[in-house]
Amino acid sequence: MSDIQMVDLKSQYLKIKNEIDNEVLQTIQSTKFINGPKVQEFQENLKNYMGCNHVIPCGNGTDALQIALMACELEPGDEVICPSFTYVATAEVIALLGLKPVMANVDYESFNIKAKHIEPLINSKTKAIVPVHLFGQSADMEEIITLAKKYNLFVIEDNAQAIGCNYKFSNGETKKTGTIGDIGTTSFFPSKNLGCYGDGGAIFTNNEELFLKMKMIANHGQNKKYYHKLTGCNSRLDSIQAAILNIKLKYLDQYNLNRLKMADIYDDSFKNINELVTPYRSSNSNHVFHQYTLKIEKKLRNSIIDYLSNNAIPAMIYYPVPLYKQEAFSNFVELNFEIDNIERLCNSVFSLPIHSEIENSSQTKIVEKVLTFFKNI
Ligand SMILES: *Cc1c(COP(=O)(O)O)cnc(C)c1O
Repeated sequence: MSDIQMVDLKSQYLKIKNEIDNEVLQTIQSTKFINGPKVQEFQENLKNYMGCNHVIPCGNGTDALQIALMACELEPGDEVICPSFTYVATAEVIALLGLKPVMANVDYESFNIKAKHIEPLINSKTKAIVPVHLFGQSADMEEIITLAKKYNLFVIEDNAQAIGCNYKFSNGETKKTGTIGDIGTTSFFPSKNLGCYGDGGAIFTNNEELFLKMKMIANHGQNKKYYHKLTGCNSRLDSIQAAILNIKLKYLDQYNLNRLKMADIYDDSFKNINELVTPYRSSNSNHVFHQYTLKIEKKLRNSIIDYLSNNAIPAMIYYPVPLYKQEAFSNFVELNFEIDNIERLCNSVFSLPIHSEIENSSQTKIVEKVLTFFKNI
C-alpha cells in the first residue's frame, strides 16, 4: 500500500505516462509554446465537453474570475455578492478591481449560497453574483438565475471545484455547471478534478459579446496586434499545459466517477456514526467530490485529525476562517446576517482524502481508523 495522500497525482500520471510524455515532447519539438495548435484543440474539446458556445483558456482560475468581472464593466464601489465560505480567490478579485465584495451566508447542509441568502443583500449598487459550486456540487442555479433576472444582475459561476458537474432544472433540462450563468470560470490547478501540470484556467460563456470582450481583455485588450481597445491583462494557458489537458479531459468523467465511488463507500461506512455528518447530496445536481467534507463537533475535530495523522492519514480543514474574518477584507466587512451558521461550519468541517486513484486497501485503512476512533471515544 502506498502512502495515503489527500490527492495522488503521481499514480494518475503513471497511468497515462506514455500519452502525456509523447504529447509534451511533441509540443516542445513544435516550439509553438504560446497559443499553438494544442491550445486551439483544447479550446474546441473543452467547448464540446461543456456544451457551451465559447471557451477562453487563460492563466489560472483567479485570472478567469478577474477577466470575467472586468468584462462586466462595473464602476468602482459597485457591489458583488459572493459566499463567505469559499476559497479566497472568489472575493479577492472583486476587491482587487475596486469593487466591493459583499459576503453572504451559505446553506449549512450544502455549503453553497442560496437565493434566500443573496436577496437581502441586494441594493442599487449590487451588480453581480458569484456563486461557487463548493467541493464539487452545484449551487441551486435555477433560483439564483431567477433572482439575477429580477434584479438585472450578472451571474459569474466559480466552477473551479466542480468541473464535470451537471445541474438539472425543474423542467428536466440539464446543463454543466459553469455554463449556466452569464459567465463561468474554472481552474486547472494540479489538485483540481481536471488539473494540469502547472497553472491553468478557463472561462465559459454563451454570450458572444462577452466572449469577444473577455478574449480581448485576456490578451492586453487587443484583437489586432498592437491596437489596444481596452485595458486588459496578460493571461494565457501555455501549449504544454493544453496538450496535457487534452489527454486528461478524455478521462475526466472517469476520474469524477472514481471520486464518487470513493464517496459512496465513505457514506456507507459512516452512516451509523452519529457524531459524523456525511456530505449532503443535492437532488438537482450530481456531486463530483472535489472534496469529501464531513461535519463533526469542534471538540472532536482536533482529536480525530490528530488520531488520523498519527496513523499516516491526512485530513484537512477547508476552510478554517470565513472570508469576513480575513484581515485582507477588513475594510469591506459589513455583516448583514447572523454569522453563527458560518462560524459553526468553520468549526465543524474536515475533509478526508478523495481522488481518482485510491487503492481499495488505502480506503479500507482510512475507514477502519475512523471507525476505531469512534469506538474509543
Ligand atoms: C482553486 C480555486 C480558485 C483559483 O484557482 P487558481 O487556478 O488557483 O487561481 C478559485 N476559486 C475556487 C473556489 C477554487 O477552489
